[in-house]
Amino acid sequence: MKQVKIIEEKCILCGQCEAIAPEVFKIDDTPKVIMDKIPENLEEKVQEAIDACPTTAIEWE
Ligand code: SF4
Repeated sequence: MKQVKIIEEKCILCGQCEAIAPEVFKIDDTPKVIMDKIPENLEEKVQEAIDACPTTAIEWE
């Protein structure tokens, strides 16, 4: 299973990723990935969040 990370310095806390994949991303004062390994059925959603992030702060590891 793949892992995903948020580059905190690039994140502007817009909440887009959480809106798309709340199972994976939690954005409060800091951005967090709350799921260690991404199951295959969520990969597409995570990719959608990566594509939607305005500052390209999300990356696959
Ligand atoms: S979409 Fe990108 S900038 Fe917005 S909260 Fe998520 S990681 Fe941060």
